[in-house]
Amino acid sequence: TDEKKVRRNRNEVFSLHENALEWMEEYTGIPYPFDKFDFVLIPSFQYGGMEHPGSVFYSDTRVLLNEAPDLQEQLGRANLIAHETSHIWFGDLVTMEWFDDVWLKEVFAGFMADKIVNPSFPEIDHDLLFLLNHYPPAYEVDRTAGTHPVAQPLDNLRNAGTLYGNIIYHKAPIAMRMLEQIMDEPVLRKGLQQYLNTYAYGNATWKDLIRILDQLTAEDLQAWGKIWIGEPGMPHFHVSPAANGRTILLLAGDPAGRKRHWPQTLYLLAAWENRDTCLPVKTSRDKIRLEPQPGSLPLRYILPNSNGLGYGYFRIDSLSRQTFLKGLQDLTPLQRGVCWINLWENLMHRQVEPGELLDLILRELATESDRQIIRRILSYAHTLFRQFLDPAAREKWAAPLESLLREKTLAASTPDMARTWFMALSNMTVSEETTRWLARVWEGKEQAGHLLLPETDRTELAYELMLRLPERYEEIRVRQRASITHPDRLEQFDFVVPALSPDPAVRDSCFASFTLAENREHEPWVLKSLTWLHHPFRQPRSEQYILPALELLEEIQITGDIFFPGRWLDATLGTYNSRSAANTVSRFLDERPGYPENLRMKILQSSDKLFRASAWYPENE
Ligand SMILES: [Zn+2]
Repeated sequence: TDEKKVRRNRNEVFSLHENALEWMEEYTGIPYPFDKFDFVLIPSFQYGGMEHPGSVFYSDTRVLLNEAPDLQEQLGRANLIAHETSHIWFGDLVTMEWFDDVWLKEVFAGFMADKIVNPSFPEIDHDLLFLLNHYPPAYEVDRTAGTHPVAQPLDNLRNAGTLYGNIIYHKAPIAMRMLEQIMDEPVLRKGLQQYLNTYAYGNATWKDLIRILDQLTAEDLQAWGKIWIGEPGMPHFHVSPAANGRTILLLAGDPAGRKRHWPQTLYLLAAWENRDTCLPVKTSRDKIRLEPQPGSLPLRYILPNSNGLGYGYFRIDSLSRQTFLKGLQDLTPLQRGVCWINLWENLMHRQVEPGELLDLILRELATESDRQIIRRILSYAHTLFRQFLDPAAREKWAAPLESLLREKTLAASTPDMARTWFMALSNMTVSEETTRWLARVWEGKEQAGHLLLPETDRTELAYELMLRLPERYEEIRVRQRASITHPDRLEQFDFVVPALSPDPAVRDSCFASFTLAENREHEPWVLKSLTWLHHPFRQPRSEQYILPALELLEEIQITGDIFFPGRWLDATLGTYNSRSAANTVSRFLDERPGYPENLRMKILQSSDKLFRASAWYPENE
């Protein structure tokens, strides 16, 4: 035990618990419902935390922070403690009846945790954080053919693991926030108190809860829940200004053609040359005509979902498209966040081209000052780089992208931001010149601004260099290995490094070794190896691993952790954009009509971007 670390964190950890317990007693009106309250810190615990009546278990590293933790780490810890403490009421005092409702206790714990913790971190833009944390991963699954409702039936506990995923962790919180908006905060609170009191020390279902809530409001919550909780997918909207600029048309559609309506109040920001108007719209019909008081013409753009509380795909109109692709700096940080997410979904629906988006990314990164947005854009850039550009396009973008990222690394005022820029650069470097510079930084011959390279980052950089400098593979391997201090990390390094070998036969046998369950025991290491084996620079040769990886899926679901099948698929399919790779996946599913439905859905989720990306490259059959 690191006694210093314990001493440094002890007071804060106790006071965070005390604060969360008092807050929950106050909010629910129910005093702490069990005899004792313990918490236990467990080294390398597989979850962040796990609630039990009277005793919460935590992963020690999530609670005992290193010296001088940054704001995000402090917020993360406070949120985890508040989350687990909320479970005492939502989960332990009232427990779900069956796994269909597993989402319910999670969504309430997250919802309460935000309420408990956020006011203590006034420096953080929580609306923007919520948007960036939840919307991209929710859309990432919900736009796919493999999506599912928040509430899913479960007939066999053996498959409980496949319930967990982005829909539960990210779409459910979005729906919950909408519910609070519809009901008003004090009314929802009253309903939750009634629910907890009615079912204390017992079991309850989502239906039991919605019945209680529905009696407290004029809104039809049964109908609301039926679609937002009971149906998969999301509405598609098309907002377009009429040619005269005086009316705005909002078309709502069901992508499945089933004429479903997702009731919500959307906010549209309409910007004319001289002023902006924010228009609230209830979206309960197919077609809505808005006639705002126009400013002096012309209209510049319409930003749908401008407050970030709505949910759906918002197809961009051509006027707004033109305006936004020029730059977003007129917008507030929250609106920029909304706009990026919308643009990304428009890329997925082929309304924006990869090159156009990358162009905007470069321009915005040059001036963007919000760190959360910078990280979001860099992540989009990386996905474009890995999956939406072909080698010629990567070559073309290399010069401007690399010089921007290098400048930003050097100019960053904190080690933290220098690291963000530098790691993005090392992920996306193509040119020989930048590769040589990265190598000098790795060797310690060059200092990159305020960048500090702790051992784990240096190892990542070594991997990137081994991939790009095959002639130096052995030398880099030996030198990096010599600088790794911890035996576990050394073991991991030795495990991963064959996936980076310049010798294709070594990479083949590395992949082949994963067919044995005993070689998949360290799942994070396997995933790391897979991402290197499937790296864009290894294509198209690496495509041969796709089919056997799919064939292993059923076995992997039995032997692996609950998140492993999805992550295995993401690591396998997340870099391809060729027709042949897409065809491998289609054929695999077509040839197996009786394939387990839950795994088929996982494959459809993980291959969604592959199919969309391959549509941009019809010629590379
Ligand atoms: Zn939880």
